[in-house]
Amino acid sequence: MELRGKSRGKLRGNIKSDVFVIGCIHGDEPQGKFLIEQYLEIKSDTNILFIPCLNEYGFKNNIRTNKNGVDINRNFPTKNWVKSEKNEFYGGDSPASEEETRFIMDIVNKNSPRLILTLHAPFKVVNYDGDANDISKKISEIIGYPVEESIGYPTPGSFGTWAGLEKKIPTVTLELDEKINVQELIKPVFKIFALLENY
Ligand SMILES: [Zn+2]
Repeated sequence: MELRGKSRGKLRGNIKSDVFVIGCIHGDEPQGKFLIEQYLEIKSDTNILFIPCLNEYGFKNNIRTNKNGVDINRNFPTKNWVKSEKNEFYGGDSPASEEETRFIMDIVNKNSPRLILTLHAPFKVVNYDGDANDISKKISEIIGYPVEESIGYPTPGSFGTWAGLEKKIPTVTLELDEKINVQELIKPVFKIFALLENY
């Protein structure tokens, strides 16, 4: 778990970045990590706080969960958290039981960003929680995926529910296309990052 961009060199404390972008919450969705790292290659001076790869174990092993078999995106201490079956959506033994979950909670709690974007795959939608309809529409126009407010099915313990609905921080979940070459995502996703630089 590494912080990049605005926070470079500081692992904790007073980061003061208004926009967070988080990649690779699910280890088998590496697009976000790749795109963030490419972006930082060309843009050393950024207003965005990037977490390129939250789930490093999952990334290294190409699995959704972390080393404890927990889906980090079901482990946040939301009102609707439930102890679930031990499959790839397992929410952990208790809310916020995982270090990756607590890492993000700590940074968000200390910095109160105005907007958070998380990068996932493969559903090709712009999903949001909280007051993020306008920015989601702009992101949708850039990348050509539809906007969907997350009311389709329950995702207890998700990051979007925790940050967007319960902490009232507008949170956008961008589900990227995994079928095309990730190189083709560079152009639209860099445009989205550029939009967020000035958010
Ligand atoms: Zn995901």
